[in-house]
Amino acid sequence: MATQTVPLAASKILRAYAEKTPRSQALHARAMKVLPNGVTHAARYLEPHPVYVTRAAGSRKWDADGNEYVDYFGGHGALILGHNHPAVVEAVTAQFARGSHYGAAHELEIEWAELIQQMVPSAARVRFTSSGTEATHLALRLARAFTGRNKIVRFAGHFHGWHDHVAFPPGGAEGIIPGIVEEVLFANPGDVRRVEELLSTRDDIAAVILEPTGAAMGAIPTSSDALRELREITSRQGVLLIFDEVITGFRCSPGGAQQLYGIMPDLTTLAKILAGGHPGAAVAGRSDVMALLDYRNSGAGILPPRIPHHGTFNAAPISAAAGVATLKQVRDTAAIDSANRTAAAIRDGMNAILERRGLRWCVYGLFSEFHIFPGAATPQDIYAGRVPWQKLKGGSPAAFLHKLRAGLLLHGVDIVGWPGGLVSAVHTPEDVRLTLDAFDATLEMMAAEGEW
Ligand code: PMP
Repeated sequence: MATQTVPLAASKILRAYAEKTPRSQALHARAMKVLPNGVTHAARYLEPHPVYVTRAAGSRKWDADGNEYVDYFGGHGALILGHNHPAVVEAVTAQFARGSHYGAAHELEIEWAELIQQMVPSAARVRFTSSGTEATHLALRLARAFTGRNKIVRFAGHFHGWHDHVAFPPGGAEGIIPGIVEEVLFANPGDVRRVEELLSTRDDIAAVILEPTGAAMGAIPTSSDALRELREITSRQGVLLIFDEVITGFRCSPGGAQQLYGIMPDLTTLAKILAGGHPGAAVAGRSDVMALLDYRNSGAGILPPRIPHHGTFNAAPISAAAGVATLKQVRDTAAIDSANRTAAAIRDGMNAILERRGLRWCVYGLFSEFHIFPGAATPQDIYAGRVPWQKLKGGSPAAFLHKLRAGLLLHGVDIVGWPGGLVSAVHTPEDVRLTLDAFDATLEMMAAEGEW
């Protein structure tokens, strides 16, 4: 018999979580007086309050009350090696002693770019930025200048940061200039036919941009067949194909989704793992497109680049040191395999718990991530496109998500709001065991509150 759903304000899950995290609660009250919503990133917002973390190591982090968590936020996906990996700590510490900003060229930025060129198949040339948002911003501008066209094709649900060209769903959003909204054309996730129709009937499209494994690291999966078709269609029409590998880069494989699937985009955006847990990102790609960033030294003297590009912290030495250390680990160790295996164990274990509880939901994913889908479906249904994409990302009620996240925190696990998580190379079998216990206990509490 279905119980009446308990509202957030009366939820025992949220109350128990609040009782376990009084210092976080106090810090949040202070934060609310100075930070909008008390947080600094939309994804960190949590009812009744987020945890305030004071320390992290490996796969764990600790809050202001000393509670320990298995961490699947993973630095928003930046920490494939976990927190404070010794190789990264050593590189960063040594670099700190040598200076954090030279306002000058330095050797580490070359080494960093060389590693990217070596690992990422389409990276003929590399330009560093400070964030993934800046990288997609620059990539789109390069594509427009290179093709002399203005329009961009995006897939609904795919995330590319928060600058004006990418920070709105179909139809626009407050604060975005209507003229920019008009320059962006949408396709539904995986709708290759729609892209084909757009590209074959219009001559004003500069680029198609997408997350190659699908929206939110594959929450709405994109198949490799679709990628291959997109490559053919864009090549045929002279439209640039941009893979946003900010999250898939150095995670799906050492060379990202493009290496795994053997598909070469024209431009790639990279961030997160790229800079080993520090701020840093890049646009990489075809030499002829990236040449738009070159100074031109001709008979007319030295002319500025066709696309000028600045950024105080581009290739900042600390980020470069962390990035070089991290990429070498990804290249030279079994880090990716290890993270993939652990994520598979989490998905299998969670699915077994769902089955035992008679819930027909599923937990899915292909790499070092897991996506929790609280609806009747199997992973096969999701990968075959039998579940409406609108349900796969942002389809759960907010109250349900807050209970799930707070319940897992109460039991010592921090996930992201997809809902799901990012797994690192240093998560252990013990972490998996704790995670599965926490998942089971949270489901028990949610069932008692009539959440299904
Ligand atoms: N693209 C993708 C695919 C991302 O996952 C993100 C970050 N979540 C971004 C772009 C934006 O990167 P940043 O947060 O570094 O601006």
